[in-house]
Amino acid sequence: PVSASDLIEPHRICVCVRKRPLNKQEVIKKEIDVVTVPGKGALLVHEPKHKVDLTKYLDNQVFHFDYSFDETATNDLVYKFTARPLVQSIFEGGMATCFAYGQTGSGKTHTMGGDFTGRHQNSAKGIYALAAQDVFTYLNHRKYAHLELCAYVSFFEIYNGKVYDLLNKKAKLRVLEDDRQQVQVVGLEEVYVSTAEDVIKMIEMGSACRTSGQTSANANSSRSHAILQIVLRRNDRTAMLHGKFSLVDLAGNERGTDVSSNDRSTLVETAEINRSLLALKECIRSLGMNSDHIPFRMSTLTKVLRDSFIGEKSRTCMIAMVSPGMSSCEYTMNTLRYADRVK
Ligand code: ADP
Ligand code: MG
Repeated sequence: PVSASDLIEPHRICVCVRKRPLNKQEVIKKEIDVVTVPGKGALLVHEPKHKVDLTKYLDNQVFHFDYSFDETATNDLVYKFTARPLVQSIFEGGMATCFAYGQTGSGKTHTMGGDFTGRHQNSAKGIYALAAQDVFTYLNHRKYAHLELCAYVSFFEIYNGKVYDLLNKKAKLRVLEDDRQQVQVVGLEEVYVSTAEDVIKMIEMGSACRTSGQTSANANSSRSHAILQIVLRRNDRTAMLHGKFSLVDLAGNERGTDVSSNDRSTLVETAEINRSLLALKECIRSLGMNSDHIPFRMSTLTKVLRDSFIGEKSRTCMIAMVSPGMSSCEYTMNTLRYADRVK
């Protein structure tokens, strides 16, 4: 597991994994923990019967990442290693993207801090809130004062390949690409914010919008990608873009084979999610290889994030979340293989 002294100079692409603790129900059901974090960058999935002799399995079930967080890691610690270096980069004029990836229930929303249903009081201390705090600390810092910047937020979701504005009554928005390949979400609300509390208010508002009108709020949010953007602009007439941070709470990555219903709309949803997650993987891989061809057009998700990915100063961080339980083992392996392929 990672400790505070381990922080290294961030690379352009950083891939981490976070294991959540067994929850109460899992403990009651005597769920067995099959995930171990043996080192700061390694994670091991093992069968319970072999639990005593992990070394036998180190070769084929151990995965290596930039950082691995075990169940004792706090959101604070995870933030420090993942999103925090990215916040700094947007003040240097960069674009940054941080993804929370994993199966439903693995801790994506907990990590991002986007659960504002009121049941989880600590959710305000996720990456959203911590990043917002730092943005305003930097904004008011001597080092960046001469830039005369101000901050805005956008918050939208992508569901079935369509973009919905969470800060504007879930208005359905069009995505346009001009001849210079600049992608625009037409009419996306960008709200001026002057404190971290302002940002939280917008997230609360957007989160409420996200789940309203659905029979099963949780099921719906797990089938869509939520994208929070903190945008820095020049505080003058031009309002020129200086930097942008996109924080993405991805749709659950559980496979289509698991879909219990034969419902056609569910199958369409699943196909769309799989397609966008595949596109995301391909794009990040291509970026990592400095390839000329980045397949952005493969999905709406990658299209709208296009300008956040490219450019010298862009930074990307993926946090892959895993559940510790034996019954999630297959999903956990899928998540780890995906994250492993991204780099
Ligand atoms: P996801 O967004 O991936 O579907 P959630 O973030 O909603 O998953 O997490 C599912 C449940 O597990 C929530 O009740 C959440 O509070 C809890 N949880 C997730 N990660 C952690 C963690 N690291 N520590 C404690 N509880 C967690
Ligand atoms: Mg969630």
